[in-house]
Amino acid sequence: MQQPISLNPDSKILIVGSGVFGLSTALWLARLGYRRVTVFDMQDTESTGYDPGAGIESASADINKIIRFSYGSKIEYQRLASQAAEIWDQWNQEIASLAGEELPEVLRRGERKLWYKCGFLRMGAGTEFADFELQTLRNMEMEGIRDTQFKSDDDADTERAKRSGWAHKLDVCRRQERFGVHKAVLDSSAGFVVAYKACAWAQHLARKAGVEFILHDSKGKVVGIDAIDHDKPVVRTADGMAHEGDLVVVAGGGWTAGLLPEADGLIETTAGSVATVQLPKDRPDLWDRFSPENFPVVTWGLGEGTGNDKDIYSFPRDENGVIKIGYRKTKWTSYGDVAGKRISVPKAVYVTEKNIPVPALEGIKEYISVNLPELAELGLSSTRLCWYTDSIDNSFVVDFVPGRPRVAVCSGGSGHGFKFLPILGREVVKILEGKGDQTVYGQMWKWRTSTAGKRNGLEEGEEGPRVLEKQRMASQEDWVF
Ligand SMILES: Cc1cc2nc3c(=O)[nH]c(=O)nc-3n(C[C@H](O)[C@H](O)[C@H](O)COP(=O)(O)OP(=O)(O)OC[C@H]3O[C@@H](n4cnc5c(N)ncnc54)[C@H](O)[C@@H]3O)c2cc1C
Repeated sequence: MQQPISLNPDSKILIVGSGVFGLSTALWLARLGYRRVTVFDMQDTESTGYDPGAGIESASADINKIIRFSYGSKIEYQRLASQAAEIWDQWNQEIASLAGEELPEVLRRGERKLWYKCGFLRMGAGTEFADFELQTLRNMEMEGIRDTQFKSDDDADTERAKRSGWAHKLDVCRRQERFGVHKAVLDSSAGFVVAYKACAWAQHLARKAGVEFILHDSKGKVVGIDAIDHDKPVVRTADGMAHEGDLVVVAGGGWTAGLLPEADGLIETTAGSVATVQLPKDRPDLWDRFSPENFPVVTWGLGEGTGNDKDIYSFPRDENGVIKIGYRKTKWTSYGDVAGKRISVPKAVYVTEKNIPVPALEGIKEYISVNLPELAELGLSSTRLCWYTDSIDNSFVVDFVPGRPRVAVCSGGSGHGFKFLPILGREVVKILEGKGDQTVYGQMWKWRTSTAGKRNGLEEGEEGPRVLEKQRMASQEDWVF
């Protein structure tokens, strides 16, 4: 960990990125009394309300994200997720109690709610439970929350599910009846959040707390982070301006390693593959079946470690009748030149590859054909790549950057950072204040290096098999079932 700097309420803190990591940091800094916090973003996340349909491209700008507490042996994330859930509950209540004009634009339309506790059904693809599931259940037991979980082959659990109104979500794909086996755990405390509305809400709260946002494709686009002398870092933006700060926090999501090339090797930019199915308006039966009241978030064969993992997840329909399905098995890389190095960077904003590689498409189609055959006849309505940042061990990276005084990094979401939007900044601020060594998360998220063995795929580099340019991309003809 770098030498901590001393901050005071008038310290000028510049944050690069208005996604989950930048937003949560800004919100907590402002609420804890820091008066001069500015967030830069090259995308106008305010007027678009983070809506991916309006052209915003980031991991946070999405229709929905899973809120789960099942973290296998990683109990610290389970605990942090539970603390976040308390704030998600409060935010739901606060939003429901406010008049329309007190809400950001995207929350005035449609449902005024962020977080849906619809349950989370983790279905195995094989005949046995994965170790991860059994470990999670042991942890839930230890934390005194085992009664929120229903194991499909446990008589006491299925009886309890009937009594508490969860039985209809225990086998939504009718796997027991159709295949004679259904190994699943239903987590009744989990569900999903409407991602773009949640970000718009957090940005609204941060503004109310005094944070300034510069969201613009040149005024907000950071093209360099330098030091004038060895004390004050400077953020240079595409309009030619230089902004001096007492502290710079780089929370650029998939673009982070492009801004801080020294982070290459610790974090890597990768893309997840997502597809959607649009339910037709004249099929009320399907709207009902896939509503959050009747259908949970589902994963299929996620991280089983059997070599036959499916690594697929799906959501209930959203308020527009869209069902999102994601493929996690392979996360794709794309290499470019940055500061004389070849590192993985997102395909440029606004020209994002809308097609996904064939193996991802095939995985999603297999999930639909096997588990939700009634959707196969509707076909897919879109596919998309979504860029994010993996770390060498799937844990976040929040620390000062070695060799760059007063510059910190806040990234490495590794495909699971969204749920922490309400709480992440609490822990980030402790690290920025130099107390990271005294906290469990400060230690988990510190700058670290490793050159040994498997490092979450980062060891593969440009020679590896996950490079996007080596894939055959699926076209709409491939969408046919
Ligand atoms: C397909 C997919 C599925 C996921 N599913 C889940 C899930 O179900 N549950 C969950 O908890 N998490 C999930 N995650 C992870 C979660 O979405 C991320 O951890 C989180 O959104 C990352 O936020 P971020 O702020 O780091 O990055 P981003 O949201 O990408 O934000 C980065 C921001 O920085 C800005 N920026 C970048 N470079 C610059 C620059 N030079 N100048 C100015 N601005 C810049 C960008 O415009 C962007 O707005 C998923 C991620 C993906 C990709």
